[in-house]
Amino acid sequence: MKTLTFSGGVHPPDFKGATETERIKVISPNAGDEFTYPMSQHIGAPCAPVVKKGDDVAVGQKIGEAVGLISAPVHSSVSGVVKSISDVITPTGVKSQAIVIECDGENREHQSLNNGRGFEGASRAELVEIIKEAGVVGLGGAGFPAHVKLNPPADKRIDTIILNAAECEPYLTTDYRVLLEETDVLIEGLRILLTMHTDARGVIAVEDNKRDAIELIKGKIKDEPRMTVAALKTKYPQGAEKQLIYACAGREVPSGKLPMDVRCIVHNADTVIAVQRAVVRGRPLMRRIVTLSGGAIKNPGNYKVRIGMKLADLVNLTGGLRSEPRKIISGGPMMGAALFSMDVPIIKTSSAFLFFTEEEAKLPEERPCIRCARCVERCPMKLYPFELNQYAVRGEYELFKKRNGEDCIECGVCSYVCPAKRHLAQSIRSARGDSLRRK
Ligand code: SF4
Ligand code: SF4
Repeated sequence: MKTLTFSGGVHPPDFKGATETERIKVISPNAGDEFTYPMSQHIGAPCAPVVKKGDDVAVGQKIGEAVGLISAPVHSSVSGVVKSISDVITPTGVKSQAIVIECDGENREHQSLNNGRGFEGASRAELVEIIKEAGVVGLGGAGFPAHVKLNPPADKRIDTIILNAAECEPYLTTDYRVLLEETDVLIEGLRILLTMHTDARGVIAVEDNKRDAIELIKGKIKDEPRMTVAALKTKYPQGAEKQLIYACAGREVPSGKLPMDVRCIVHNADTVIAVQRAVVRGRPLMRRIVTLSGGAIKNPGNYKVRIGMKLADLVNLTGGLRSEPRKIISGGPMMGAALFSMDVPIIKTSSAFLFFTEEEAKLPEERPCIRCARCVERCPMKLYPFELNQYAVRGEYELFKKRNGEDCIECGVCSYVCPAKRHLAQSIRSARGDSLRRK
């Protein structure tokens, strides 16, 4: 089998063994549980609440309205009563206004649900509107509103839609389980995207260590002339957008440009499922699949969770902790963010939570750079991480920008390969954020 890839990158141990064979389990909420819905769960402008304290809400009811061109509405995933509207810290560390709903356990559905119209004969504009109203955003971690990606300006012709199921981060296994367990829904979701872009081909991108998934999908799409499966070399960060486009389409996305500038759209596997549910079943985005793993969690697995559920409640409902975690990470170990508490809600972009023991969380001590250039050799964006780190530490933003520091995809490869264990990615990530905010 021919495998595709990009230059640079690394092969970290995948640590997927604890969850990759675990079927997706549905977690149901209990009456009395509090669900918290931040108005900022996506890239772009935060939503504005359209309910107030004391309001009765139903499952699927819109509670946050999108404001501005790049934004996505938020829906309640439970029925119950609005208890408060106040600021919270999300798992990504962002402070956001949030609506807190006490679940009544009755699962009363809003009348707007289940009005799916199907997609045969639908125009792109109609489908964009449905996906927008359903609040679908990139569920792979970025949270970019899906309807914006799917509706590029008229002069940007799309010829390749890549369904990103590479899932290259260690520990994460939700996309793999979706490929195996929700294959038909996934393929129908891709069919919808191809209806919106009639000149495009669909590429389902999977790392070559998931042979069973590749064979299963190949069999399912044998009568889909516009779809193919791309077997990607198992390497990190194979699922990063620019690296994926290079591997699947042989095109480089220039600095400061977007996938649509090279005629591509990339969507994560669970996002495509959310598109199918919105269009065919008339269900807004209210749930996502989350991997729980690490040595301190009692039952590692892949769980279908209602958005808004507290992490602490989710952990309890799955059987609790085996031991007090030394570190909790939201996301994967390479790109994720450390959490200080389990009192955070599951949001649209929460792909995983890792509960590390003392042993797993141990970080080697940082030592002086020995100028070995390993970070340069392995950086998938062809940057000079040791140099960017110096600019970052000194706050030299002009030099940081001049040396393309804003192109960093925050993959963590440089820190991973550094023999001196320099905290390169952390300082570069922080300087990149500052540099982008100064624009
Ligand atoms: S500089 Fe950025 S893109 Fe390059 S390896 Fe480090 S984190 Fe990844
Ligand atoms: S890998 Fe580490 S030690 Fe080597 S050049 Fe980069 S920062 Fe310096």
